[in-house]
Amino acid sequence: MLDIQNYIGGELIPPQSKAYLDNVEPATGQIYSRIPASDARDVERAVQAAEDAFAGWSRAPVEERSRILLRLADQIECRLDEFAHAESVDTGKPLSLARSVDIPRAVKNFRFFATAIMHFRSEAHATDYAALNYTLRRPRGVAGLISPWNLPLYLLSWKVAPAIAVGNTAVAKPSELTPMTAFKLSELAIDAGLPPGVLNIVHGTGPDVGEPIVLHEHVATISFTGGTATGSRIASKAAPMFKKLALELGGKNPNIVFADADLDEALEGSLRAAFANQGQVCLCGSRVFVERPVFETFLERFVAGARALKIGDPLDEHTQQGAVVSRAHFEKVMHYVELAREEGGEIQCGGGAPTDLPERCKDGFFVEPTVVTNLGVNCRTNQEEVFGPFVTVMPFESETQVVEYANATPYGLSASLWTQNLSRAHRVAEGLQSGTVWVNCWLLRDLRVPFGGMKQSGLGREGGEEALRFFTEPKNVCVQVPGLGGPSR
Ligand code: NDP
Repeated sequence: MLDIQNYIGGELIPPQSKAYLDNVEPATGQIYSRIPASDARDVERAVQAAEDAFAGWSRAPVEERSRILLRLADQIECRLDEFAHAESVDTGKPLSLARSVDIPRAVKNFRFFATAIMHFRSEAHATDYAALNYTLRRPRGVAGLISPWNLPLYLLSWKVAPAIAVGNTAVAKPSELTPMTAFKLSELAIDAGLPPGVLNIVHGTGPDVGEPIVLHEHVATISFTGGTATGSRIASKAAPMFKKLALELGGKNPNIVFADADLDEALEGSLRAAFANQGQVCLCGSRVFVERPVFETFLERFVAGARALKIGDPLDEHTQQGAVVSRAHFEKVMHYVELAREEGGEIQCGGGAPTDLPERCKDGFFVEPTVVTNLGVNCRTNQEEVFGPFVTVMPFESETQVVEYANATPYGLSASLWTQNLSRAHRVAEGLQSGTVWVNCWLLRDLRVPFGGMKQSGLGREGGEEALRFFTEPKNVCVQVPGLGGPSR
């Protein structure tokens, strides 16, 4: 059985404890590899290695950093099938999804930031008759990067790439549930010639590895993606130490279908938004609001679409719905099915584990795509993030009412709306409390745009220029220039 290793100071090494945790394949429920049970001692070593590497890496020419990151991207791309297979086995997601979305996006993340740093610019301000100001943006030192299990390499690379591209060094902690592609990335980082200590990856649990990273006095920057409760805990630890924090947290995203929408497109998009990656995308549209005149038609077709999704072995090319990530998560989703029933919800389809799985998957963690109606907007089922193949569908009467419904949760990550009325699209987009609004689409991503959430969905923004700025420290230099801007000679 494979023992995954930590990547510290350019080497693949075992944890100091010599202890390992089981890594389970969600589709089979079987242990298939082991991950280091690291602790604060490994974090200490990783931070030390990152600090040692900082002086050299932060002063390396931009072209050199860019070249190494591009090489890393090329190498992942060359091994796309191997990475996609590893991601599918580790997470339970369909192989086709890992191959078409997760791994290509990781490649894009490295390429995007490798080239973005070549164009990263800063500001200059001329103060009339007095001075010239220019702003230096320098890397901040060691960055702590903590990522979740739903899009393991995709989200890890979304942090690693900008952090090290601008000259920081990093200590990363992937989720203990999905360590495999991060391990493979560390192997490739060595091959790509990334100098030792620039990127360190320490595997283990949140409390044993994540928290020591957050608390370490030499980790000045923390970028975290995960649940809102964990984000709140991290903020409470980091704030008194004045660390720079970016928090990308949970969502309970509305998906709004107006009666004038192209219904075929809205249906196709809403199904994808509801069930992609078994509903385990922070951006999933888990509350569907449908304007009354088309409610019955939409619901009937939406339920038929959910029933038609092919659940099965994630490694089967035809599978559209794989397993959820763990037994604990399976139970969490089932708990919400029960809660929905208690709150008066009607289960239109799903609500249990499928019974016709292939033999290999009989002990896996599979949930049928589940659609629930007849719930009020303020009940717990409609307020709390389920993060599974579970959606509620509700009617609405007017534009004003649906904006109110959509905003009635503590979250504010993303929203989709479907309409052919352009003015309405702009009005509603403006009214939604949400970091991203998609009109007549879902998950259409441009890596240059600001990405993040409002309210309890997060703090700060990632993406493009926002990420480059987050991972650097601005310093303004003011040079007195008497007479600057005066009449020309
Ligand atoms: P968690 O918050 O449980 O974990 C996220 C990461 O934090 C994991 O690596 C975890 O380690 C680690 N962690 C746990 N406890 C601590 C701690 N005390 N200190 C430091 N690190 C800790 O989230 P999930 O992994 O369950 O991911 C699902 C959540 O992520 C959902 O709420 C989803 O909405 C959100 N998410 C948000 C996104 C966004 O961009 N806004 C994108 C994707 C997901 P371990 O797993 O090893 O315990």
